[in-house]
Amino acid sequence: GNGGHMLNVADLKVQVGDTQILKGVDLQVAEGEVHGIMGPNGSGKSTLAKVIAGDPEYEVTGGTVEFNGTDLLALEPHERARKGIFMAFQYPLAIPGVSVANFLRTALNAQREEEISAMEFYPILQEKIEQLAMDDSWANRYLNDGFSGGEKKRNEILQMMVLQPKLCILDETDSGLDVDALKVVSDGVNSMRTPERSMIIVTHYHRLLEYIVPDRCHVMLDGKLVKSGGIELARQIDARGYDFVREEVVAGQSS
Ligand code: ADP
Ligand code: MG
Repeated sequence: GNGGHMLNVADLKVQVGDTQILKGVDLQVAEGEVHGIMGPNGSGKSTLAKVIAGDPEYEVTGGTVEFNGTDLLALEPHERARKGIFMAFQYPLAIPGVSVANFLRTALNAQREEEISAMEFYPILQEKIEQLAMDDSWANRYLNDGFSGGEKKRNEILQMMVLQPKLCILDETDSGLDVDALKVVSDGVNSMRTPERSMIIVTHYHRLLEYIVPDRCHVMLDGKLVKSGGIELARQIDARGYDFVREEVVAGQSS
């Protein structure tokens, strides 16, 4: 059983080469819950996200990851996607000749039994594009070709809306979100919140969590989720940094 949780990560240990990155991560996400994961650079947040999605670069050396009771670690990345796990990847490169519409239809077909034709797909896509207040011509643009930061984010949300995943993992890594992108991501995420869909939002930005307001917040330090709480935890970190969490861990008080 999965103890009622959609996602159940228990004592997960991960390494790359000889380097231990995750040192025993525990995380439980119930259906419909949104969890925020914060933590300093290099603490292992993206590694956790990528291991759940199935990135083969990371070697799992211990622990379990279950999704609705299924052993996720036994599945290939595309099988995980078929089960409804979505990870918003960054696409740093433009893909010449691949339109947004083609890209999204291919992604959708990869998780369906029966292929959806371009004719069936187009109206669905247009509807989502309208919902996101994007220009009609968006579908015909080439993927990431000259997209601004905000447009890339908007396209990720569009992808989420098309794929309708059960578990969305958003890793807002690198350079940061400008105000426009922040609004796109938070509005998009909020519009996708349902009692059935769960989300994990990895972010440095306390601000994003004020817009999305997760059900639970967690702090990752040195390869472990060391403290959990509500939005107040994100606010404490915004005000005080991570040192007080480190001190609690050293003192053995952390929950
Ligand atoms: P975060 O997302 O919290 O900033 P990461 O999960 O990206 O942290 O990285 C955690 C640690 O693991 C860092 O020290 C990073 O250098 C290392 N690491 C992550 N991915 C790799 C990799 N593919 N090869 C080598 N080291 C890696
Ligand atoms: Mg990261």
